[in-house]
Amino acid sequence: MQEAIHPHSNGLISYTDYVQFTLDQGCQKTNDAPSTKCPVCDRNMKVRGGQKKDDGHFYHNDSIFCPTKEPAARPYLGLTPTIPDINAMRRNKQFVSDNLECIWKKLNSIIPFLHINEFVEILKEAKRLNVYGYSNLTPERLPYVFVTLINFLPSKSKKKERKLKFCFFYESTIQTYEELWINQGYFSKLVRISYENSKTKRVKIISTNINYLNENGYELYDSYRRKCLAQL
Ligand SMILES: [Zn+2]
Repeated sequence: MQEAIHPHSNGLISYTDYVQFTLDQGCQKTNDAPSTKCPVCDRNMKVRGGQKKDDGHFYHNDSIFCPTKEPAARPYLGLTPTIPDINAMRRNKQFVSDNLECIWKKLNSIIPFLHINEFVEILKEAKRLNVYGYSNLTPERLPYVFVTLINFLPSKSKKKERKLKFCFFYESTIQTYEELWINQGYFSKLVRISYENSKTKRVKIISTNINYLNENGYELYDSYRRKCLAQL
């Protein structure tokens, strides 16, 4: 991947900036400097220089499991609430229905080239898994659960707007969706990773704030609106 967690802060550092950092530290070899960490599994990462400029990247130099290596193995994928809460279900679905345009806009801002059919697919999957039934889920955070429900594949259309695959991850201490809300007022780190074929490319930490509710949403055509609401 082209970014990893900075050795001395919680932010990301790019490969190029890290090389500079190691020089500033006075290290003879790049891998002698304090390590960057994987944004998902939190283990140290190694760096590998590239053949060409900008080709260098961070990688795990072992065979220990990290979900970034195998996105399909994110532990919370496909899970349903152990004891679904009927009141929470009602409240969360009502929230989606009342804020559909804001949620659509928020998802567009974090998923490159999002297609309305993907939004419908997300809502379908949310219904199938009953993600609305978690008693402690604050509805405002729903978009950040939605993004993990499907993989965002490269476009099949002729225009090929989306060239990479995008997947969303929680830090790997999260094994079930329930664990996202154990500590009230705190929401686990969410990371977006892009893949070219199966190669990890870019990493982005996604802010899980709820400011999106203060803005106007993106309007949805009536037919799409109905399609979305039919999934609740
Ligand atoms: Zn990792």
